[in-house]
This record gives sequence, structure tokens and C-alpha cells, in this order.
Amino acid sequence: MQETLRIAVQKSGRLYEGSMKLLKECGIEVSNGNNQLRVIAANFPVEVFFLRDDDIPEYVQDAVADIGFVGENVVSEKNKEVDSIEKLGFGKCRLSLAVPKNGSMQSLNDLQGKKIATSYPFILSNFLKEKNITAAIHEISGSVEIAPKIGLADAICDLVSSGSTLFTNELKEIETILSSEAVLIKNKNLAAGKKNILESLLFRIRSVKKAKNNKYVLLNAPNDKLEVICGILPGMKSPTILPLAEPGWSSVHSVINEADFWNVIELLKTNGAQGILIIPIEKMII
Ligand code: ATP
Ligand code: ZN
Repeated sequence: MQETLRIAVQKSGRLYEGSMKLLKECGIEVSNGNNQLRVIAANFPVEVFFLRDDDIPEYVQDAVADIGFVGENVVSEKNKEVDSIEKLGFGKCRLSLAVPKNGSMQSLNDLQGKKIATSYPFILSNFLKEKNITAAIHEISGSVEIAPKIGLADAICDLVSSGSTLFTNELKEIETILSSEAVLIKNKNLAAGKKNILESLLFRIRSVKKAKNNKYVLLNAPNDKLEVICGILPGMKSPTILPLAEPGWSSVHSVINEADFWNVIELLKTNGAQGILIIPIEKMII
């Protein structure tokens, strides 16, 4: 029987869609139509287990699953023996301390002697120790944001992405403890066959991630501007230049990074580029 790599993915929740989308972009067909616990992929040697995100680090440590897609926040909190090997680019959030908006507490030091509600007691107690703050930690598993209002705690330590939940509950963020996104974790003792499957999965994931961070750009330029335009466009090796039917003009093709995208486009325009087209890249293999 051919070996398969068992991947643990969140069954439902904020990481589910990102995880399934990533597998799909990697060309791996997993249909979870019937809400099954276990699905074997049609065209790649993987088997997907759908689990609660909190359980994923332990299952990977104990080799119930070989790898998992889970938030860095959960990996840090559970503190299991697993390797985090690749950030996945979705599920971005931060673990922050927040206090009532109109209360007397303003900064970290004001938490001295106070009570903090959280679902992250391990991360929080390490953080407080490091900052020399003594506070009581009250562990609750959900709806942490309502704790101050109902008198359960003075402050909270919870996940934040847009900040709208804090706003609705009249809380303000005073300190970020940890920034997080979904990561790929792996069991520490994978067999050789499983390692090979993981390598080819990682190759696909990295190609998808690279493609997302880059755009293909096509533009027209007068030949006397080519040198300066090519200086602005590094490309993967160097830009491709093709002559246009109109004499004295060329078409330039290259790849640019999402991070400095708008600056580069502006520079290209001011240096004589015309008819600029930006095209998304599906996969990028360097
Ligand atoms: P489960 O039933 O699987 O235990 P859950 O209620 O613990 O689900 P979700 O709220 O679905 O979990 O969040 C899963 C993960 O999504 C978090 O651990 C975190 O990594 C990430 N995440 C991203 N943004 C946020 C956010 N604003 N609030 C909470 N989690 C977020
Ligand atoms: Zn959870």
C-alpha cells in the first residue's frame, strides 16, 4: 500500500476555509461534502482529518496526524513537541491585552494585582512573569470579551483581528503579546516516505505563496526609455523585451512584488511606460 500523509485541519471555524483553499490551490482534491471526519484526497497521497483546532498540536505530537494546519497562538499555548515549519499566510490575528475603554487602567503596569480573563493561560502567565507583573489569571474557554462587563475580570487577554469585537464591548487594546497566523506543524519523527510527501506538499505550498506575493506586469515603452524602465523592474532573472509592430517601441514583461507594487507602477508611469497591464500569477516556481 502506498504511504499517505495525514493532515489535521480545523473542522469548522476561522481556519477551515483558508486550509481547504490552500489544499485546492496546491491541486489537492479533498471533498468534505458529508461533513466527514476523514477524507482521502483523490489525486495526492494525503488524508485529511477534520478536528478542533485546540487538539491539533497534541494529535500531531502523538502521531495521530503527521502534520497540521493551525494558528501559531494555539501552537504556543499548547506547548507540545512539534516542529512549526511553514507560515501559511492566512488566519492572521494577534493575542492582546485589553481593558475597559473608560476605566482607570491605561497601560501594562496598571494590571498589577488585577484579574485577567483569557483562554490562553500558558502564554499569558509567561508574558506576565517576563514583565514582572503579578495578576490573577481566570481561564475561560469562550466569550472572553464580556468578562469585564459582567464583573468576572478587570481585563482580558484575547485574539484580535480587526478590533471590532473589542470596540463593541467598550474595550481598548493596551499591549500585543503575540502576532499569529496559520502554520504548518509536523510530527518530530516522520518516516522517510511521509517526509517525501511532505517535501512535495511544501514545494506546492511555497509556489502558491510566492505567486500570491507577486504580479506579472506587461507594459509598452519607447526604446529610448527601456534602460531606465528595466532598472525599475528587476524580474525573476531580468525583464523580457519584445519589439512592438510600431517602430521604436517595445513590450516589456516582468514580475513585481506585491509589497512595493504601487511605488513601482508610479515610477514606471513617470518614466514613460504606457498601457501597463497587471496580471495575477497562479503558481510560481523558481
Ligand atoms: P474550534 O471549535 O476548532 O476549537 P475555535 O472557536 O477555537 O474553534 P476559531 O474562532 O474558529 O476557533 O479560531 C481559530 C483560529 O483562527 C484561532 O486560533 C486563530 O489562530 C485564528 N484567528 C484569526 N483571526 C481571529 C480572530 N479575530 N479571533 C479568533 N481567532 C482568530
Ligand atoms: Zn479552538
